[in-house]
Amino acid sequence: MSERYDIAIIGSGSAGLSAALNASIRKKNFIIFGTKELSTKLVKAHKVNNYLGFYGKSGAEIRDEFAKHLEDMNIDIEEEKINNIYSMGDYFALMGTNKTYEASSIILATGVNFGKPFKGEEEFLGRGVGYCATCDAPLYKDKVVTIISYNKHEEAEANFISSIASKVYYMPMYKEEVEVDSNIEIIKDIPIEIVGEQFVNKLILKNSEIETDGIFILRDSISPGQLVPGLELDGNHVAVDRLMKTNLPGCFAAGDIVGVPYQYIKAAGEGNVAALSAASYLDEQKRKK
Ligand code: FAD
Repeated sequence: MSERYDIAIIGSGSAGLSAALNASIRKKNFIIFGTKELSTKLVKAHKVNNYLGFYGKSGAEIRDEFAKHLEDMNIDIEEEKINNIYSMGDYFALMGTNKTYEASSIILATGVNFGKPFKGEEEFLGRGVGYCATCDAPLYKDKVVTIISYNKHEEAEANFISSIASKVYYMPMYKEEVEVDSNIEIIKDIPIEIVGEQFVNKLILKNSEIETDGIFILRDSISPGQLVPGLELDGNHVAVDRLMKTNLPGCFAAGDIVGVPYQYIKAAGEGNVAALSAASYLDEQKRKK
């Protein structure tokens, strides 16, 4: 049986990190998912003038300060993308790319995904469109797969699926050099529309078209409604109260995912509140038993 954590924090930006510090201070058994880079949005900021105590620092410098804070508190980030979370009543099951995890409560801190879905993406979701190539790879044995990737880290997913599929097209939506296996065809173009009949059969690009059986769209974050079925939304954001509680008992959310203003210090403050609320929830559950 897998270990059941008190709290699983999904996201390693300001909101998730602040939640992790407070979960640690409250002596909860927690796990935080994300990347060792912490957050691309943090690294990309040229100068940050509105984070208390860090006037004039670049995002990369603040990232280094955050990383040192984590190290000093012995907090480690689990480098894993969580693809789905299911509420199981008194706990949550979290589906990672490599493993399944269990936690009594969760804090969603995955930030916002600014990209609008491609035309046809929502219509063909589960019918040829997916968000985790490794998870769905067996469905594409000897088939043609296209990967639209927003992060260099996803090149590993392309390499893995190319050992199963008959053909893999890889469309990088980032500027870094692409280093995928030589049997993968790299396409530099702009996706316009996903089309098909019962299942996907084509991806229309700005300058050409690809015949394909499956399309994986690997963005940095998955929309909250896809991530946690049953979660109440407020437009594109997760609906929360002042204690960062969502409609699902034991599920809290913080940071850009719950709405504007999109700011580091607001995200960190909400991460703090979410962790304290999760700790109170756990204490209350314990008292009830
Ligand atoms: P994010 O920082 O977006 O972090 C989310 C994290 O979750 C990421 O690490 C991501 O990889 C991870 N994640 C997402 N989905 C999953 C998943 N399914 N499984 C595991 N991990 C996942 N704000 C300011 O206050 N001042 C500024 O000067 C400023 N400048 C900015 C400059 C730029 C260029 C940009 C893009 C933003 C700027 N912002 C600024 C806004 C700020 O970046 C955001 O408000 C802040 O990063 C939000 O923090 P967050 O923790 O909610 O989300």
